[in-house]
Amino acid sequence: MIRRYLDKIFYGLLLLAGTGMLHACGTAGDADERPAVVVTTMMLEDIVNNIAEDRFSVHAMMGPGVDPHVYRATPNDVRRLDRADLIIYNGHFLEARLAEVLAKIPDRTFAAAEQLDESRLIQAFEFGGNYDPHVWFDVSLWAEVAAHVGERLIAFAPEHEEQFRSNMEAYIAELNELHEWVGEQISTIPEEKRILITAHDAFAYFGRAYNIEVEGLQGLSTQSEVGLQDITRMVRLIMDRNVPAIFLETSVPPRSVQSLINGVSERGGQVRIGGELFSDAMGERGTPEGTYAGMVRHNVTIIVEALK
Ligand SMILES: [Zn+2]
Repeated sequence: MIRRYLDKIFYGLLLLAGTGMLHACGTAGDADERPAVVVTTMMLEDIVNNIAEDRFSVHAMMGPGVDPHVYRATPNDVRRLDRADLIIYNGHFLEARLAEVLAKIPDRTFAAAEQLDESRLIQAFEFGGNYDPHVWFDVSLWAEVAAHVGERLIAFAPEHEEQFRSNMEAYIAELNELHEWVGEQISTIPEEKRILITAHDAFAYFGRAYNIEVEGLQGLSTQSEVGLQDITRMVRLIMDRNVPAIFLETSVPPRSVQSLINGVSERGGQVRIGGELFSDAMGERGTPEGTYAGMVRHNVTIIVEALK
């Protein structure tokens, strides 16, 4: 009796495992004849999907809320990277802990942000890559990245050149329009209030492109710890400048921003959380913030509402 019961459970599990495997095969590319493209961030996935539509099987390693600075490859990632026909990553040391894995497969990798002309980049000597990797915050710069990725996709699948080129042009036109919109929105914040304080220093390109002062509690990478000195300096800045709101990031724990708020109130001041920004990761797929343009619009709307 017990034996039969156990057998039932065993077959049940086998069946479950079986469907799981079928599912895994379907998504991993065995049944899928299309070339496999692996990207690191969802921002890059957005570029590839817009340009190549469904020509490739595209997999983004880092989903919503995932912090690229500290992300390590899972065994599943390693398998996917092994089988991938093309691997597109941001570069400039954004994916710090993947560098070693990616270096082992140089023939199929493409560092999208490293294609940009150095004159367009912000230098960051304290950071491993020498340049700030957060280029997607300047939409016009991200449009340039899209052009580089588009050319790489065309070189990879020249039979689709016509389709890819026309999609690429449409996507870049959309980004250029978005870039204008962001500039207009930020300019509605009175100049003395135009200061963006976030958990980590991701917004330097945003600040440069749209004329807003940016301050991050943590440095360029979230790998470092926030020190008491950082908190003290920022509390003073918030008090001196009468900053009304500071911002959380979806891919960074809220702890450090909370200690900033506590620090301000201990000194008799007041600052509130202006909202949650998507910095190094986009929103859930199927929501507006799950697209690059939607993420940018969300961030800008939150910033303008909180600071104006
Ligand atoms: Zn970052």
